[in-house]
Amino acid sequence: MSTRDDVIALLSELVVCPSVNPSDRKDLQPPYGEGPLAELLAVRLRAWGAEVTLREVVPGRPNVIARFEGADPSRSLMLEAHSDTVQGSDMTIPPFEPAVRAGRLYGRGSCDTKGPMAAMLLGIRRVLDEDGRMPVTVYFVSTCDEEQGARGARALISKDFRPDLAVVGEPTDLAICHAHKGTLRWSIRTHGVAVHSSAPQRGVNAIYHMARVIELIEREVAPGLRGKRHPLLGEATISVGVIRGGTQSNVVPAECTIEIDRRMLPGESREEVTEAMRVRLEALKASIPIFSYDIEALQYYEPMEVSTDSIPCRLMAEACTRVLGAAQFVTAPWSANAGVFAALGVPCVLFGPGSIKQAHTKDEFIELGEVEKAVDVYAELIRQCGVAREWPAPIT
Ligand SMILES: [Zn+2]
Repeated sequence: MSTRDDVIALLSELVVCPSVNPSDRKDLQPPYGEGPLAELLAVRLRAWGAEVTLREVVPGRPNVIARFEGADPSRSLMLEAHSDTVQGSDMTIPPFEPAVRAGRLYGRGSCDTKGPMAAMLLGIRRVLDEDGRMPVTVYFVSTCDEEQGARGARALISKDFRPDLAVVGEPTDLAICHAHKGTLRWSIRTHGVAVHSSAPQRGVNAIYHMARVIELIEREVAPGLRGKRHPLLGEATISVGVIRGGTQSNVVPAECTIEIDRRMLPGESREEVTEAMRVRLEALKASIPIFSYDIEALQYYEPMEVSTDSIPCRLMAEACTRVLGAAQFVTAPWSANAGVFAALGVPCVLFGPGSIKQAHTKDEFIELGEVEKAVDVYAELIRQCGVAREWPAPIT
């Protein structure tokens, strides 16, 4: 079989097995939950000779950790691709019936991030077939819940499991992504007093109070962030994405909630960003009679940045140069598991086939030619790890 046939066969198998992030839902019937995909990966990886562990992070939602022992087991490389995808219900194509047209494979997850995952798996397969074994210990890892807070990535790294370096498979157009923004999401709730709308002066309107919060964010907080610039990633940003409030038009609303997304730059901490928001809200509270609110953190992804001269970047660049003729470095305004791993002490970069422009879209697809090239790059990366003169000192 050609690499193209292998890519189509494996990627189709991954897309046909839905793994939609269930968010808060407890009922994990398909298409929800990463369990079935984790099982599929475990069966395949065991057949390839890996030692495979499934570790439940949330009931029914495991991380997959597959270990291929290397000729030099003192070095370890992790290739990681998250197992969850976003919803398929709003797509204009059948989400879980992969279709190949004009050199592309269509379906939910084909680009984010089952295409990169298939390329990692086939890169590992290539080295096993051609070299007989791995030059260094290689972990293929698939974590759950990347799309809704990265609980899988957070639960993965511990004193018992800390690979020397990692490559996170995300659609980066075959460029090496060495920095990405962080994301902090909050909900803010204002509390009012519900009364009949015929006598609104006797109640406290939670929606009116929330309007003041939104105005504060739009007029003061967002412009205030424009001065915070990173030379590669640009500005920190803030956006209100969800609002819910009130029950019916003849009742003064007792409650209103918004959800906010704050994009963070390397160097900003979750604590200082949250504190700055609290200070603003407290000042607002002091200026409005009977103003009551609470703020709650929903999700957090750490920002990350590694130098293009770091060991993971240099290894990745060597592999790209050998396979693609050149290495290109990029940065991303989105967040991914790489920030979580880096914060937990694992040096890492992001690399993969496909474009983030196709991620989460109504007709998600990936260019098969890019997946084939990524197979070559990942295989070359594994080999480079075996001959690299420099290697990160293990963290103890
Ligand atoms: Zn992704």
